Amino acid sequence: MPKPTAHFRCFRGCAGAWPLTQAIYRCPTCDGLLEVAHDRAALAQTSADEWRARFDARWSPTAREIPMPSGVWSKREWVAPEVPDDCIVSTGEGMTALYPAKLLAKQSGIRELYVKQCGTTHTGSFKDLGMTVLVSVVNQAVRQGSLKVRAIACASTGDTSAALAAYGAAAGLPVVVLLPRGMVSVGQLVQPLAHGARVLALDTDFDGCMRIVRELAARGLVYLANSMNPLRIEGQKTVAIEIAQQLGWQAPDWVVIPSGNLGNAAALYAGFAMARDLGLVDRLPRLCVAQAANADPMYRAFMKGQTEVTPVVAKATQASAIRIGNPVSAPRAMAALKAMNGVVEEATEQELADACAKADRTGLYACPHTGVGLACAMKLRARGVIAESERVVVVSTASALKFTEFKLGYHEKKLPEVDSTLANEPIALPADVETVVQHLPP
Ligand SMILES: *Cc1c(COP(=O)(O)O)cnc(C)c1O
Ligand SMILES: [Zn+2]
Repeated sequence: MPKPTAHFRCFRGCAGAWPLTQAIYRCPTCDGLLEVAHDRAALAQTSADEWRARFDARWSPTAREIPMPSGVWSKREWVAPEVPDDCIVSTGEGMTALYPAKLLAKQSGIRELYVKQCGTTHTGSFKDLGMTVLVSVVNQAVRQGSLKVRAIACASTGDTSAALAAYGAAAGLPVVVLLPRGMVSVGQLVQPLAHGARVLALDTDFDGCMRIVRELAARGLVYLANSMNPLRIEGQKTVAIEIAQQLGWQAPDWVVIPSGNLGNAAALYAGFAMARDLGLVDRLPRLCVAQAANADPMYRAFMKGQTEVTPVVAKATQASAIRIGNPVSAPRAMAALKAMNGVVEEATEQELADACAKADRTGLYACPHTGVGLACAMKLRARGVIAESERVVVVSTASALKFTEFKLGYHEKKLPEVDSTLANEPIALPADVETVVQHLPP
């Protein structure tokens, strides 16, 4: 079989091809986004049955082939096929549970509801999946001598910087992160600090940080790690392939994804489309892009039937990782919506907090973004857009262990715009057995 290859090309179709190891982030002709193009003919030399068998064999407790186990590198031919083994920087990302949320499904009137637990991974968010690819390719380029930059850098609402800092540290590469001061949780700020990244807290919002890091990258001072960089999407698309694999190589009817910059929505499409084109699944699921009502430019565009997103100033939301007013990957997500017969839904602060509280009561532990996804799934079901018989997967994007302030705030009834109907507060008692007996459940 010919060895599969991949290169960058213009997302809109301008001429040109660039190696994945080149520091290029926009099409030189139209200034639009780039994407990774795979040699589909080479991949199609392997049959769908062989791919399924190969991927299944690698997802096994005895798979030892380096750098397995990794949800990303176990699909390496489809992701970044030319990265040598010894350049791969992996933390065993991916291969996360597809949790059957039976109780929550019953309460929501959905027959089959799964939560894809992308937050149960090295740095606690799905950002690991893209970052392992990006840092591995940078590592390869640096070792080959084809790339010289002072640092890998990103603007971040938190999770991207945590992942970049961890993978950069693992690779021994310097990392700079630009954060909007005062807008990320303690749990998110502490990770880049711990990994030794240079953390620059700027007096602006996420979109302001993004403008500055793009300028640094344009001047060749840093390598850009934001999801404008299509290498991230290549790693993240393995979530779609994993979901299909965990359902016995079937697409679900719906996949719901909490979205801000919209790279992840595009990644889901890329993964499902590749699995369909190569015959591993027979169709695409429908897509629901789920946004926080306080940061909902994609929702507004969808409701007005526009094909381009008008930037908004994003307001504060508990779902801080999706507080984005000017989403970089909007054109990619528009294409995903179209191909997947998709919809955009939104959740208010009240709705996302309620969804989290309900989910937590069934044993899940949902971060606010996952709350947005769950709330949107419930709203679509209530309106009949999602049918009772349909199989729904909600992507959980981060671990709620990073969002303790949100959880505490809810149960202490201190969250703005939220009425904490399921608050559960501790009961202070004297250290006396009989008093404790009186307070046991009936
Ligand atoms: C980054 C992130 C998102 C949004 O992903 P996009 O690709 O920017 O749409 C959602 N949830 C969490 C927890 C994130 O870290
Ligand atoms: Zn172009």
